[in-house]
Amino acid sequence: MLRASTPRVISLFNALFFLFLFSITNISCSTDSLEEVGIVDKEESTDTEESQEDSNDTDVTNPSDTNEFEESFVLDEDKKLVNFVLSDVEYNKFITDDGDLKVVTKKVYQYFNDEFDFIFILSVEESQPQDLYYGISYKAKNDIQGIGSSTYDGTASYGSQGKLKSVIYMPRTEYIVSGPFLHEIAHYWANHGFLSTTVGGHWGYSSAGGQLGGFDELDDLGNGTYHGKVNGREGFGSNANGGNSLPYSNVELYVMGLIDKDELESIQVAENPVSTGEYGKFTADRIITVTSEDLVAEHGERIPSVQDSQKEFKALTVIISTSKLAQEKIDSINKDLENFARKGEPDSYWGNTYNFWKATGEKASIEIQVANENIK
Ligand SMILES: [Zn+2]
Repeated sequence: MLRASTPRVISLFNALFFLFLFSITNISCSTDSLEEVGIVDKEESTDTEESQEDSNDTDVTNPSDTNEFEESFVLDEDKKLVNFVLSDVEYNKFITDDGDLKVVTKKVYQYFNDEFDFIFILSVEESQPQDLYYGISYKAKNDIQGIGSSTYDGTASYGSQGKLKSVIYMPRTEYIVSGPFLHEIAHYWANHGFLSTTVGGHWGYSSAGGQLGGFDELDDLGNGTYHGKVNGREGFGSNANGGNSLPYSNVELYVMGLIDKDELESIQVAENPVSTGEYGKFTADRIITVTSEDLVAEHGERIPSVQDSQKEFKALTVIISTSKLAQEKIDSINKDLENFARKGEPDSYWGNTYNFWKATGEKASIEIQVANENIK
């Protein structure tokens, strides 16, 4: 039901992800070999069939100060993550793309106030499940004008009363550090029609090069053949560029409300691009240039503006598992989350990967520690 009725943005992470992170030298893969799954940006407000069961459980009490709301739903003492223990059957649904994220989010709102911009759900797979995406982002609402999407509020179907922006699921907790964490967060703002590309939901074959794919440098090889590169690499991905290994790009910062239209750079977009199969190379009918003025004329001003936009976000992380997490695992996830959300450089074990604050050019931050006042 969820699959049929819920629009979603899917990120299928590509070979580049591994190429970058694990330094595998064979880079002959085509960026077109990435499997693209339907990416839709629609409102969810019509999806009310589940709202009945979400009737407010005002009777919930916290049995003690341990934040063990239920035996299977426990806020860790560091207050950075909730461990939600599921049956094998329920857990396995998530790693076979059949999980219902709303079951998790509704449980969250039973015990927490509606104060979170994002809910992150992660399972604890030791390796990437076959045939599953690396991350998925369900956008619950849009309250921003001028970024290509109409405004709507589908938060109720998740149990939120309007605060929730998106729900993100990733099958492995390791992806907090490696990505696609930054990528999935970016999907709240893009690409929902802001820039017309041939790769749904992403920047495709354009110089928007950032978390959602694209290049930032383009060589014209003649005869309608081009070579795009990003971040000093020899190629680029049309829907992703190697997890948390690069920051948000100029246009990504714009749609996120972190730079003004005066700072928005012109974007080159390939018409009818086709990958040649060689990393970063493609053919196109021509390259057109879309200016900041074009984009503002098409979509209107971004409202709220950079002066009024939200710069500090709150998130709640839920780790699903089939048995209670070992303390060692909790400590490891806490450390990764703290680094991701830190308003500063992450620890050296992150290498050159970006946390949220750094990826936004130090313009925005995310709070992942749950404040006591947000617990019901
Ligand atoms: Zn994506």
